[in-house]
Amino acid sequence: MGKKMTFTKNCYLDFAATTPVDQRVWEVMIPYFKDEFGNSSSIHMWGQKSEIALEKARISVAKAINCYPNEVIFTSGGSESDNLAIKGTALARRRMTGANKILISPVEHPAVFETARQLKDIFNFELEYLPVDEYGLVDPTLLEKYINPNIAMISAIYGNNEIGSINPIRELAEICHKAHIPFHTDAVQAAAHIKMDVNRDQVDLLSIGAHKFYGPKGVGVLYVRSGTPIIPTQTGGSQEFALRAGTHNIPYIVGLAEALNITCESIDRFHDRVIPLREMLIDSIIKQIPDTRLTGHHKQRLPNHASFVFKHIDGNELLVLLDQQGFACSSGSACKVGSPKPSEVLLNLGFPPEWAAGSLRVTMGRTTTPEEIEAFLKILPRIVKSLRKK
Ligand SMILES: *Cc1c(COP(=O)(O)O)cnc(C)c1O
Repeated sequence: MGKKMTFTKNCYLDFAATTPVDQRVWEVMIPYFKDEFGNSSSIHMWGQKSEIALEKARISVAKAINCYPNEVIFTSGGSESDNLAIKGTALARRRMTGANKILISPVEHPAVFETARQLKDIFNFELEYLPVDEYGLVDPTLLEKYINPNIAMISAIYGNNEIGSINPIRELAEICHKAHIPFHTDAVQAAAHIKMDVNRDQVDLLSIGAHKFYGPKGVGVLYVRSGTPIIPTQTGGSQEFALRAGTHNIPYIVGLAEALNITCESIDRFHDRVIPLREMLIDSIIKQIPDTRLTGHHKQRLPNHASFVFKHIDGNELLVLLDQQGFACSSGSACKVGSPKPSEVLLNLGFPPEWAAGSLRVTMGRTTTPEEIEAFLKILPRIVKSLRKK
């Protein structure tokens, strides 16, 4: 009632954190909550209807990423897909061959980082980090030098959630393929912006999560190339080819398939619109704000993604002030207000703490307008300046 607003518009610029469910996705999901509620494992008609919806979704995802339907494993999201890929394959390979080492890039999402770390701390695997350049990219010729028979599996992120860089996945996967070492990529960000093709990319395992591309939260896919050694990490019933126990979440699975189709058919149009906005954003911020650096690769990066570090500011304070002005952004990592630890990814890239602590990630979406970016660019330099004065 007459509450005074300090801003006129709420502007969401955090599409790498999550996206709203597309209306078309929502509509295909609804029937499966109530009317078509059957358990897809049941014999009767209710069960069969759900099973048909499940298998239709599986075929649709398989077509979208160019694999066979029995290589599509539905999970509860990107984190679970990463866990299943890394734990499931590392444990299966060690059992088969005795290989005891895991190789990952040092700029992974925590879902990969922490999973690999647990395998080291509790399951006695060796964990080694691949070398990356200043943009967080793994060089295929360097990967080649790391290959040896003791490696159980290798994982490198496709499109980086924090710094936007896109790894040369095909080249990396080819090297692993030749050496018969399973290669996993976390494509949870990339799948929202690059048409996935596991045949083109030659990967053995690939993680996807629906809520990064206008699908519901809490559902994902792990692609598992036929013949890849893997054991379930969630045991129980024999759902998902006995790789992931639990009654199927049909509305979410149907929603994921629809969201992925919409994404694939609209990717090019979205890029044409969003890349110029990203370039404007990057150029303007680098030019206007002193002691600023772009993080990640300038060209080889996710089209909607701009990320920076500002020297001598606290990134969390920056996010709070931006939020007060109606702009929702992120620091890029999972750190929350109150824990001002700089991002591990940025520290691993060699940024000193006085830079790494001042990170900002701006990620655009289907509804982002040039006016929003212009308004953001007007306000950001002032806020950074005020934080440096303190
Ligand atoms: C969001 C994200 C995840 C986690 O996915 P959830 O579906 O939220 O569990 C994993 N990896 C990357 C790169 C992500 O961006």
